[in-house]
Amino acid sequence: MTSKVDLAAAIGKRVSIRVRDGEGFRDLLGVLQDENSVVKKDGTVAPFSIDQIAYFRVVPVFNRANIEMNDLHLYETASRQLQKIEGELVRIYSCGPTVYRDAHIGNMRTFLLTDLIRRCLALNGIETISVSNITDVGHMSENLDGSDSGDKVLEEAARESVEPLAIARRYEERFHNDLAQLNIIPAHHYPRASENIEEIISSIDELIRIGSAYIGSDGNVYFDARSSDSYGFISGNKLDSLKPGHRYEYTGDGGKNFHADWALWKLAGKRSEMIWDSPWGAGFPGWHIECSAMSLTLLGDCVDIHVGGIDLRFPHHEDERAQTNALAGKEVVRNWIHGEHLLFEGKKMAKSAGNVLLVADIAARGLDPLALRLALLENRYRAQIDMTWQTITAADATLQRWRKAMASWGSSDEIKFDEEIHRHFMNDLETSKALLRLRSIEKDESIGIQDKRAIFLFADQVLALDLNREIAPAAEIELSSEALELLAQRAAARAAGNWAESDRIRDLLALEGITVRDGKDGQSWELRN
Ligand SMILES: [Zn+2]
Repeated sequence: MTSKVDLAAAIGKRVSIRVRDGEGFRDLLGVLQDENSVVKKDGTVAPFSIDQIAYFRVVPVFNRANIEMNDLHLYETASRQLQKIEGELVRIYSCGPTVYRDAHIGNMRTFLLTDLIRRCLALNGIETISVSNITDVGHMSENLDGSDSGDKVLEEAARESVEPLAIARRYEERFHNDLAQLNIIPAHHYPRASENIEEIISSIDELIRIGSAYIGSDGNVYFDARSSDSYGFISGNKLDSLKPGHRYEYTGDGGKNFHADWALWKLAGKRSEMIWDSPWGAGFPGWHIECSAMSLTLLGDCVDIHVGGIDLRFPHHEDERAQTNALAGKEVVRNWIHGEHLLFEGKKMAKSAGNVLLVADIAARGLDPLALRLALLENRYRAQIDMTWQTITAADATLQRWRKAMASWGSSDEIKFDEEIHRHFMNDLETSKALLRLRSIEKDESIGIQDKRAIFLFADQVLALDLNREIAPAAEIELSSEALELLAQRAAARAAGNWAESDRIRDLLALEGITVRDGKDGQSWELRN
C-alpha cells in the first residue's frame, strides 16, 4: 500500500506508477509533480489518485529516453561545444590537489565543479563514480612557469623538520576538511601517487615497450611526444607550433630527444627521500603519468568526464591524454571539462602577493563557509570571477535570509520539481540563473509558502547551501557569561573606535561558533549550529 508519505517523499523524482483503470491497469512513467500527478516525457500531465495505485516505485536509474530535453549538457574543451552527458553510470576523474600547502578558494572552485556535475546527474537518477588523485610526490618540482624550484613537499618537510609524508598527510586532511565545509560530496577514491608507484612503473614500462617512451641520454625516461599523432587535441597546441624553450619546458631535462617530450621517470640524483626503485634506477615519477596510471587503474579505459582547472588544460591534460591513449590503444576520455580561474580582490592569488584566501579564513571572519559556495555559484563555472570580501559577506547575508525564510515557510520536507531551475542546472550548470529564479520565487506573492519551501529544497539538492538549516532565534539562546562578556568588550571597543580589538574579539567569538554582525543599530549575533 502506497502511503501519502511515500508519495510526498518522491515529489520531483522520476517514478513508475501502475494505477488501476477499470478492469485493467495503466502505467505512468515520469516525474512526480505532486501527490496526484505525473509529468510525462511529452510534457503532458497525467493525474491519478492515491487509492488507484497498484504499484509505485521511484526509478533509481535515470531513463534517458524519458526526459530527453533535460539531460545534463556541459561545455567540452576539445570540441568547444556543449556535449550531452550520457550513460547510466558516469565515470569522473578529477585532477586533485598537490598536498604541500592548503588548497585556496580558486582550487576549491574546481573541486566544486565536480560536485555540481555529480549532483546534477544524481538529480536525473544517474549514478557517478568519482576519482580524485592526491599528488603527494612528483610534480611539485615542476612549476607552471617553467622554473624548477625543487620538490615542495621535501622543502616544506626540511623547513619543519618532519617526515615528507607527514606534511603531505597533514595537508591532505585539511583538504578533506575544506571539502566538507563546502558540502562537496567526497569522491569514491582518493588514490595517492606515493601508493601507486607500482602501477606507475608498469605504465611507464608498457609505454617503452610499445615505443611511446624512451630512456634519455641522462637516464631519465621520457614520453616521445611525436608518437602521439593527435597531440594538441584538447588545447590546440600542436607540436609543430610549440617552440623550444616554451614555458612548459622545465630545466633538468637535458637528456630528451625532442623539446616537447616530457619526463615519466626521473632519477633520484642527490635526492634521498621520496624515491623508489625502478627498472631505470631509483627515482620518482613525473606528474602527468600519475594521473594516467591511476585513472586507468581505477576507472578503466572509459572515462566519461575528466575535470580540472583551466591551467591544467596544457600541458598536463594534453600529456595525460597522449599517455593514457597510448596505453589503452583508444580515446579514453569522452569529455574534458575545465573550470575557470578566480581572482581575489582583483588580483591572481599568490603567496608573494599575500592574497591567498583559504576556506578557513572565511570561518575566521565569522562567515559561513557555505557563503563562499553561494558566492561561487553566482557565476557559471567557466566564467572568470573576481571574488571579494564584499561578495562573500553579501552571500553570507543572503544565506542567513534564506534560512530564516525557509524556517518561516514551515517544516515540510516536501520537494517540488521546478522545471526552470532544472533546465538551468542541466544547461551547462547555469547556477547563476537558478539563483535568480530562487530570488524571484522568494519575492513572488502569488506562490504559496509551502511551494516556495518545496522549490528551495528542490534547488538545494544541487546548490547544497543547507537552506533548511535550523537557525535558533537569538532571544531564546543563553550564551555563556564569557561570551556575553566578550560581546560587551567588543561593543566597547567599537564605541572607542578600536577596530583591531573589535576584530580580534570577533574572531574569538567565531571560534565559539558565534557570528557577530554590525548594523546601524549596533552589533547583533547569531549562534551557528
Ligand atoms: Zn591530472
